[in-house]
Amino acid sequence: MNPRAQFSPVSRREFLGRLSIGAASLAVSAPLLGAAGAAPRKLGVALVGLGSYSTGQLGPALRVTENCRLAGVVTGNRAKGLQWAKDYDFPEKNVYSYETMHQLADNPDIDLVYVVTPNGLHPLHAIAAAKAGKHVISEKPMANTVAECEAMLAACRAAKVKLSVGYRLHFDPYHQELMRLGREKEFGPLLKMKGNRGFVMGARAWRADKKLAGGGPMMDLGVYIIQGACMAQATASGPGREGVAPIAVTATEIPKTRLDLFPDVEEGTRWTMEFANGAVCEAFTSYAHGADTFRAEGEKGWIEFKEHAFTYRGMVVATSRGPLKFGPDVNQQARQMDDFARCIREGRESRVPGEMGRRDLAIVEAIYESVRTGKRTLVKV
Ligand code: NAD
Repeated sequence: MNPRAQFSPVSRREFLGRLSIGAASLAVSAPLLGAAGAAPRKLGVALVGLGSYSTGQLGPALRVTENCRLAGVVTGNRAKGLQWAKDYDFPEKNVYSYETMHQLADNPDIDLVYVVTPNGLHPLHAIAAAKAGKHVISEKPMANTVAECEAMLAACRAAKVKLSVGYRLHFDPYHQELMRLGREKEFGPLLKMKGNRGFVMGARAWRADKKLAGGGPMMDLGVYIIQGACMAQATASGPGREGVAPIAVTATEIPKTRLDLFPDVEEGTRWTMEFANGAVCEAFTSYAHGADTFRAEGEKGWIEFKEHAFTYRGMVVATSRGPLKFGPDVNQQARQMDDFARCIREGRESRVPGEMGRRDLAIVEAIYESVRTGKRTLVKV
């Protein structure tokens, strides 16, 4: 594909895919609806991996979703799964292990599977879910490599199920405002951007294990800055409505201060992303400092995420017109899952489809290549 191409959710291949997804959704739509006149039933979600994100965010969000509900889990710890069944009021038969998750195929309670395991396991679990005939959300980053993303996309296409990525910020009003400013250009094109995200990692964990994490903070945190910069370049119409990819990157790894924690992944990276319209984003991520900020500036104004730029709540956002406040924080995860459930019901594509996750891995791979070669590297999306 043309390296300058914007992220396109409607390539010819995908358009053909949509036709078949449309046909498939006709086949499954009857059981997704309630009895005549009744509200449509909530779709059943199975969470795969009951770690901190499932426990702290997704489970609680599924108590307030309108279009879906928690109906099962896949976990390595059966006792924990049984406790979840009690807490969330679903039958014990809906507790699976990673080894038995193929049996989801026989369970009509589950419509979609949300993969919340370490990055390197997303392909295994997402492909197993697709083979069981379930729609899939994969947490970010979608996988460790572009090739793995393509395998996930192919499996979902073959099974005629939808694939989405846990990009909750597309459902957050502040990030939606960033995209709106990108589209409507009230501040002019947002040509100067800056993003910084990091936290201090205290002990060795899977996030610093190359096989499970795919890399260091670039995989876990850098992806947010990539997303923010792409969103700020969103276009008013056409395939770039949810964001546009950079055309080239230049990156360097920061020297490691704690080799014990990061023997085979980077501790931090500084990089620049260049966009086709001349926009540039200066970015920094590491596991050795705390930061969560993003700024985008045009000739006529700016927007700045001063605190919690990419987190769940408590964003502090200012613009050249004054502070931005949209009222109480929304539940990003509930909105994200409800939207995907609506997409399934209505046979529509998600605004955060697997292709977007693949695009971001293409950008990440270009960044790592630039670190290796020391050269400016074209992004092949
Ligand atoms: P975690 O370590 O708290 O949980 C991971 C889960 O995977 C655990 O239940 C663990 O038992 C299970 N697991 C299965 N096989 C494993 C293995 N071989 N090694 C280690 N754990 C294994 O991690 P988390 O913070 O919940 O992150 C899970 C995924 O969610 C990651 O991809 C992460 O990037 C993503 N995440 C996304 C957000 C977001 O805001 N979208 C936030 C946090 C995490």
